[in-house]
Amino acid sequence: MNAPAELPPPAPHKAQQKERHEANKLDKRLLRLAGQAIGDFNMIEDGDKVMVCLSGGKDSYGLLDVLLKLRERAPIRFDLVAVNLDQKQPGFPAHVLPDYLTRLGVPFHIETQDTYSIVTRVIPAGKTLCSLCSRLRRGILYRVASELGATKIALGHHRDDILGTFFLNLFYGGRLKGMPPKLVSDDGRHVVIRPLAYVREADLARYAQVKGFPIIPCNLCGSQDNLKRKEVKRMLLEWERRHPGRVENTFNALARVVPSHLMDAGLFDFRGLKATGVADAEGDIAFDEEPCATPEARPRDDGLALVRFGD
Ligand code: SF4
Repeated sequence: MNAPAELPPPAPHKAQQKERHEANKLDKRLLRLAGQAIGDFNMIEDGDKVMVCLSGGKDSYGLLDVLLKLRERAPIRFDLVAVNLDQKQPGFPAHVLPDYLTRLGVPFHIETQDTYSIVTRVIPAGKTLCSLCSRLRRGILYRVASELGATKIALGHHRDDILGTFFLNLFYGGRLKGMPPKLVSDDGRHVVIRPLAYVREADLARYAQVKGFPIIPCNLCGSQDNLKRKEVKRMLLEWERRHPGRVENTFNALARVVPSHLMDAGLFDFRGLKATGVADAEGDIAFDEEPCATPEARPRDDGLALVRFGD
């Protein structure tokens, strides 16, 4: 009797196939958007050593993961070093990040500084700890960046952080001011970059699930959530749900500023403005209502941004 023919492996379930397809699309989208932001703002240059700040939250895990992948495909050479600041918050699982980074084979540094004790000693009970905590953290991370010889400091802020900050400044600070994708640190010695500037928070949350990152909860310090930030976040979620396109348009507007049509005389010389005597087809029509068409979206050439940082 012939041996029974080997059965083919069972076809993967449709739902599994779909899930895999979606995960693949998400992966590509994150790489494309991060590659594009890096290229648009010239965030990473040949020979850079990028210090990736890793908190143990979904955003910073996503950032490290994406940068590792982009490094493999980029036409330039740059190094990555992951840094975590262990602030000695009660219950912080100190082994999680070293274990993860060792498994990944990424060079890393864990800086242990008990800022938690300082903050809880100095700030009266019931007051929010965040402002002093983040000031201390910033100073420590700048010092660590210098010690490690890092030329760039990468943070995991995403599109929704940038929009949230923009609206907080608008509503409560009376300023048109967001969160820049690239900046020089307040001590003047470091360049801070946000490669996830174009990435939606929901995508990072999904990515963390798909990748199974060992997330460390961010409420260990027991500090109250920033209520105003929460309120703005709720507003954006509501817009996303009820007015498709509004959040995207608002975000895109941050990169299409027209100083001559705002009111900041420091940005545009209104006082010195004179008639030119030359007709301008693109010029202002003054008496009529301005048309309010959505400008063309910026071209986003899938994948190419991955290999064209410097364009
Ligand atoms: S939430 Fe906690 S760890 Fe984060 S800045 Fe505020 S006090 Fe610091």
